[in-house]
Amino acid sequence: MKKHKAAPDDRCPCGSGSALPDCCGQYLDGRTAAPTAEHLMRSRYTAYMYQRADYLLATWHPTTRPATLDLPPTQWLGLSVAQHLPQDGTHATVAFVARYKVGGRAHRLAETSRFVCEDGRWFYLDGEIGE
Ligand SMILES: [Zn+2]
Repeated sequence: MKKHKAAPDDRCPCGSGSALPDCCGQYLDGRTAAPTAEHLMRSRYTAYMYQRADYLLATWHPTTRPATLDLPPTQWLGLSVAQHLPQDGTHATVAFVARYKVGGRAHRLAETSRFVCEDGRWFYLDGEIGE
């Protein structure tokens, strides 16, 4: 007999260890706004996994937001946040590594994203690819 862990499928894909509804789920549902840039970054990773282009566009700052977003079929393997660096009350950067597979090939994306907070909501501005 296999032992079952406590509802592993409820775990948030962002790797926080929390249950999805208590983690990124509440932001994707629109129940509440992500309180920090890191929370927003994690929820955007989860949104990529669930192909939630609407959420990705809604959390993208209007000055840098693309008109449309095509999400190719991607198998997201994991996220690790390397550094969350608040600059001041309304600006922050988050460095992370995301691993994913496209067409059976594994890739690794290392990015430092910039975020800005306006009227209490965090938005993704842009990112720099790098180690
Ligand atoms: Zn999460």
